[in-house]
Amino acid sequence: MKRYGLIGYPLSHSFSKHYFEEKFARENLSECRYENFPLQSLEELSRLVKDTPDLQGFNVTIPYKEKVLAHLDYIDDNASEIGAVNTVKIDRHRGKPFLKGYNTDSFGFYTSLLPFLNKNITDAIILGTGGAAKAVASVLKKLGISCLFVSRHPMRSDQISYTDLCGPVLYHAQLIVNTTPVGMVPDTDACPDIPYEFITVKHLLYDLIYNPAETKFLARGKQWGARVVNGLSMLSLQAEKAWEIWNDDCV
Ligand code: NAP
Repeated sequence: MKRYGLIGYPLSHSFSKHYFEEKFARENLSECRYENFPLQSLEELSRLVKDTPDLQGFNVTIPYKEKVLAHLDYIDDNASEIGAVNTVKIDRHRGKPFLKGYNTDSFGFYTSLLPFLNKNITDAIILGTGGAAKAVASVLKKLGISCLFVSRHPMRSDQISYTDLCGPVLYHAQLIVNTTPVGMVPDTDACPDIPYEFITVKHLLYDLIYNPAETKFLARGKQWGARVVNGLSMLSLQAEKAWEIWNDDCV
């Protein structure tokens, strides 16, 4: 038996278990299982790894993507630069576990964004400042796109508040990425508090949320003529990358 899983808390709305169960059935991977491991505290992680000797690796979700770094034996350069890990691979040497951390959100975001980019997109606004926002910013930085974060509590020089978002800021930033959970099921009537009237046909709105497929943020952007992308493609790309990491003996 090869076991994989997801740690986070709570895990009620998680997509990963459903995704991997379908994948295992489709690809006849009958020896594989994917389980949710809701952990109330990361202090429970070492016991989980010890008590589950067939656990090959796991995904990490809210609220542990950043905090988990302190519990790992190795962090790859990309995840270390981002400061967030969403995939952990477990190597065992004579029974002793060695935990290696990676970030596949950045791969998922990069690969799904690429077809929509054009040379006019030089500046981006990132709504939110959590783990996903960090992965998004790292990708945009590598693409040479300047980023400004929008936060409810701006604390750094590259962060502004929602009330600071005005016409000139939106005029320059033609890419707006929502990395907040605002608008996600069950609160589908909610949307980030931005001045949608400044959105134009030149804008690209990317929502990391995948449930619902069209959030109010995307629907309102579309009303002003923007191109829109949801988080579904990123989701499957990051999951497949995690699968690759867990099963690549060279990683
Ligand atoms: P996180 O670490 O909790 O960060 C979310 C950020 O959103 C917070 O730092 C906060 O920033 C902002 N925020 C939270 N609640 C808010 C509210 N009520 N109003 C306005 N802003 C709020 O979560 P995450 O791991 O970055 O994930 C964020 C979202 O991305 C989730 O919906 C997750 O499902 C989605 N996601 C999707 C994929 C995919 O593959 N499609 C991958 C990763 C994440 P401030 O405190 O600075 O305002």
